[in-house]
Amino acid sequence: MEREGKATAHKLRITAVILVVAFATLLVFSQWWGRKFRADHTVGILVQNDLRITGVTPGLPAERGGLLAGDRIVAVNGQVVSNNPEYDRIAAGYQAGRPAQLQVRRGDQTLTLTIRPGIDFPWGEFIESLVNVLAYLGIGILAFLLPPPDTRKLLLFIFTAAIAFEFALPPFSLIGSPMVELATGVLFYLFTGIQFATELHLASSIPDVHPWVARRPWLIRLFYVVGIGLGVYAALSILDFMLGWESFLGTLPFGGDIIDLYLFPVWALSLLILLGTQAIRFPTPLGRHQALLVLLGTSPWLLYALYTSTMGLLGLPQPEWLETYWPLIVFPFPVAIFIAMYRYQLFDIQVVVRKGLMYSALTGALVLIFYGSLGAGSFLLTRLLPGGTSSIWLFAGTALVLGLVFQPLREVFQHMVDARFFPEQRAFRQQLLDLASQLPAHGKVPRMGRHLVAQLQEIFELRSAAVLSLDPATGILSPLAAVVHADEPVPAGDPLIISRQDPGIELLNKIQRPLHVERLTAKETRLAGLLEHYGTAIVVPLFGAKALSGLLLVGRKRSGQQFRAEQVEMLGFLARHVGMVFENARLYESATYDSLTGMLRREAVFERLAQEIRRATRYGRPLAVGMADMDFFKLVNDNYGHPTGDITLKRVAQVLTGALRGTDFVGRYGGEEFLLILPETDIRSATEVAERIRGVIEGMACQSPDGRPFGVTISIGLATLPLESGDQPGILERLVQQADEALMAAKARGRNRVETYPVTSAD
Ligand code: GH3
Ligand code: MG
Ligand code: MG
Repeated sequence: MEREGKATAHKLRITAVILVVAFATLLVFSQWWGRKFRADHTVGILVQNDLRITGVTPGLPAERGGLLAGDRIVAVNGQVVSNNPEYDRIAAGYQAGRPAQLQVRRGDQTLTLTIRPGIDFPWGEFIESLVNVLAYLGIGILAFLLPPPDTRKLLLFIFTAAIAFEFALPPFSLIGSPMVELATGVLFYLFTGIQFATELHLASSIPDVHPWVARRPWLIRLFYVVGIGLGVYAALSILDFMLGWESFLGTLPFGGDIIDLYLFPVWALSLLILLGTQAIRFPTPLGRHQALLVLLGTSPWLLYALYTSTMGLLGLPQPEWLETYWPLIVFPFPVAIFIAMYRYQLFDIQVVVRKGLMYSALTGALVLIFYGSLGAGSFLLTRLLPGGTSSIWLFAGTALVLGLVFQPLREVFQHMVDARFFPEQRAFRQQLLDLASQLPAHGKVPRMGRHLVAQLQEIFELRSAAVLSLDPATGILSPLAAVVHADEPVPAGDPLIISRQDPGIELLNKIQRPLHVERLTAKETRLAGLLEHYGTAIVVPLFGAKALSGLLLVGRKRSGQQFRAEQVEMLGFLARHVGMVFENARLYESATYDSLTGMLRREAVFERLAQEIRRATRYGRPLAVGMADMDFFKLVNDNYGHPTGDITLKRVAQVLTGALRGTDFVGRYGGEEFLLILPETDIRSATEVAERIRGVIEGMACQSPDGRPFGVTISIGLATLPLESGDQPGILERLVQQADEALMAAKARGRNRVETYPVTSAD
C-alpha cells in the first residue's frame, strides 16, 4: 500500500517535471521567435503617437537611411499613416533586409528615405535568458526529484519554475503583435504572484516551520492570497488597458505598479524578518547557519527590491545597470537554498554531519563549476555555431550532460572528503544509522528500548541512558529501559504521571528537538527529579505520528566532554526514526499482545495455532495444545483485591512464558485462561511440560499488599494432533474443544492437575 503510494507520488513528480520542462521549452521557443521577430523589424527610432521621431539609435537602419530626430513620418511604402498604431500595423509587415520607403516631413520639406529594417539576432540577451532558465529549472528539478520528498523541495520547485518561466517569456514589446505583448504581460504578473507566495512560504519553513507561522497558520494562506491576488489583479489591469475594456480597473492604480512599489518591499522585509529571526533564534546552531546562509543568498535580491521600490516611490529613475545585473542579483537565492539542502541535509538523515568549511566550499564550488561551465559551454557553442536553432539543442544537451554528472560527482567528492578528513564522524554516523535500522528487528517495544539505550551508551560512551514511554491518553511516563555505568547503579525509576501542561513537556512539544537538560530544568517541570535520577545531559523527545510519545534521556559522557552540536543534531534525527519505529511497534503490539501480561492475544494465538496445525498436518508431525485455567482465582480477587489478582496473573504469565521452549507459544485465551501451543510434541512430552508448569506455579510464593502469603494453582487440559478422524474443516475448533474437555476433567477431579484428551473414565 505504502509503496504503491510512494510510486504514484514519484510518477506525479516526474509528470510535473515533464510538464514544467515542456512549458518552459515552449516559452523559450516563443522567446526565440519573439526576439527574432523584433530584430527583423527593428529600425531604431523612437516615435511619439503623432509619429514625430524623438530619437534615432546610432548605427541602426533608420540612421543609415538618413532619418533624423524631429522628422515626422507621414507615409510608409506609399500608405499614409497618421498615428502610432497605424504605423505599427505596417511596420509589422517589415521584412529583414527588404527596403521600406519612408515619407517624412522635415521642416517644410517632404523627403522619401529608404531604410532596410532588421538587426542581427541578439544572441547575447537570448543566451543570458536561457542560462537563467536552465539554471533555475536545474536547481528546482534536482531538489524536487532527489529523495526524500519534502514540502520545501516542492516549494523550491514551484518557485524556481515560476522564475524560469519568467526568464523564458518572449520580450515584452513586439511591434504589431499586441496579443503576444498581452499574453506575456499577463503571464509575467501571474508568475510574479506565484513567486511571492511560494518564496515566503519556503522562507518560513527554513530550517523548519517558523514558530510564528506555526502559531498562525493563516499567514501562509495570506502569502498566497496576497501574492496570487495581486498577480491576478495586475494581469487584469493589463487586460483592461490593452483590450480597452474601460472597466473600473482603469480608475484604480495599475497592478504592476502596486507590485513594484509596495508588494516588493513588503516581500523583502518579510523575507528578512522570517529568515533573520530564525538565523538568530533557532534552537540549534545548524539550523541558525542554514537560515543565515539562505538569508545571505537572498540579500542581493532584498537590497535590489528595497532600493528599486524606494526609488520608485520617490519618483526617481532606476539606474540602467540594475536591469543588466538582474539575473546575477536573483540567482544566489536558489543556489543558497540548494547548498543549504546539501550542506546541511536537513531533509535526510544520511548526511547530517556538519563538516565545516571544507565540505561547504566543495559543494559550493561544484555548484558554481556546474553553472559556470553551463554558461561558458553554451556561450562557446553558440559562438562556434552562429545562427540557427541547432545551437539551442546543443546547449540543452550540454546542460543535460552536466546535470547527469553533477550528482554522482558530488557523491564521489563527499565520500572522499568524509573518508579522508572525517573518518570518526563517518563511522559514528554509520553506527547511528545501523542502530536505527536494526531497531525494528528487536520486535517488542521494551526490547527495542533496551537495545537502544545499550547501543547509545556504547556509541557515545555515556554514563547512563534511559528511554521512557509516554502514554498520551493517560499522561503516564514509564521507563522502558535504562542503562547506567557499572559503578554507579541507578534503579529504574517509577512511572510518573505528567500533565500535558507541564512546562517541560510544553517546551519539548514546541521545540521538538533534543534539548540540553539545563533548558528543561530552568522550567518548573515535574521532569526535574527524573532527569536528575538518570543523570541526564540531553533530553531527546520522541514523537509518534502526532504526539510526544516518549523521552530519550541521554546521560553525560564518561569522558566528561560536552556533546558537539552535530551529535545533538544526530540524536534528533535518530529520535525521529525511533519515535516512528516505537509507534508502529506499539500499534502492532496493542493489536497482537495483551496489555496486562504481554502475551499474545486470543486472536493472535489462534492465528498462530492455525499455522501450526497446517504445518503439522501437512508433514504429519505431532502437535499438542494445552488449555490452562487458574484454580479458584475468583477467591484471590475476593480475598486480596483485584490489583493483587492482576499482579499474580502477570507472574503466572511469566512462568508460562519462561517454561516453554523457543518454538512453543502461549497466549491469553481469556481472563485467567491460557492457551499453550506445543509443536513437535506428542502427548507424553506435552504432559511432562504441563506437569512442570503446574509444579512451578504451585511452588510460587505470592503475597498480598498487607503481607499475607498465599499460593495459587493451575489446571491444564491437553489434546494432540493427529485427531482420530483426519478431516480438515473445524480441526482447530475441535482441538481447542478437546483441550477444554480435558481441562474440565482436571477441574472435576480436584484441580491443580493435568489431564489429557480423551478423558478416561477409569479415574
Ligand atoms: P475455577 O477453579 O473453577 O476456575 O475457579 P475460578 O474462581 O478461577 O473460576 P473462573 O475461572 O470461572 O473465574 C475466573 C475469575 O478470574 C473471575 C475473575 O474474578 C478472575 N479474573 C479473570 N480475569 C482477571 C483479570 O484480568 N484480573 C484479575 N485480577 N482477575 C481476573
Ligand atoms: Mg479459574
Ligand atoms: Mg476461568
